[in-house]
Amino acid sequence: MTTLFISDLHLEESRPDITNAFLGFVEEKALGVEQLYILGDFFEAWIGDDERTPLQEQIAAALRAVSDSGTRLYLMHGNRDFLIGEDYCNRIGATLLDDPTVVDLYGTPTLLMHGDSLCTADVEYQKFRANMRNPQWQQMILQRPLAERQQMARQLREISMAKNQGKEEFIMDVTADEVVKEMEAHGVQRLIHGHTHRPNIHDVELADGQGKRWVLGDWGKLGWQIVADSEKGLRLESFEI
Ligand code: MN
Repeated sequence: MTTLFISDLHLEESRPDITNAFLGFVEEKALGVEQLYILGDFFEAWIGDDERTPLQEQIAAALRAVSDSGTRLYLMHGNRDFLIGEDYCNRIGATLLDDPTVVDLYGTPTLLMHGDSLCTADVEYQKFRANMRNPQWQQMILQRPLAERQQMARQLREISMAKNQGKEEFIMDVTADEVVKEMEAHGVQRLIHGHTHRPNIHDVELADGQGKRWVLGDWGKLGWQIVADSEKGLRLESFEI
């Protein structure tokens, strides 16, 4: 049995190479596996399930093929695509996961997160995140006309790019104490997340022993996945795009 994890593809019209890489990933790797988890920032932007761009429809068809193949499909929001709703999830046959969620991965409790909530050194971003994740704010936004939301998304992106440019490296990464706190609060020795674009496997010193933090990579020149095999355990893999 195999479970796959991916995140941070940042799918968008201007990166057809990433879209093609994902379609290849579906054909060659994902169809028929037991479970596929997408841990956020799958799309570069999302302003409501009613937008239905050709890219979103093309990806929906590929994901529907995955769920139709018998694969259980799970989707978690990232900081860019947090407005993906139940409608899109129903169309692709996916279950929307809370961030964080603990799953039993072949006998090992495993904490799944997108990862942005672990970056607590970025106080300004955490305030912004709290606003964006407010359900009332989201409802208000989703009721606005599509063109207005598209305009707003463009502005948010420009602000975000300008703000991140001046930020120090460590601020953009997870805070070590926050990782320990979350893992201990959830009683797990394994965490899988994305967001930071720093694919790696880290040891984490926990009160009750050694834990591991598995970090997915963003897709660019390489694609990244974590493969969980019921017999052989986990491995972090990259492949050429
Ligand atoms: Mn992210």
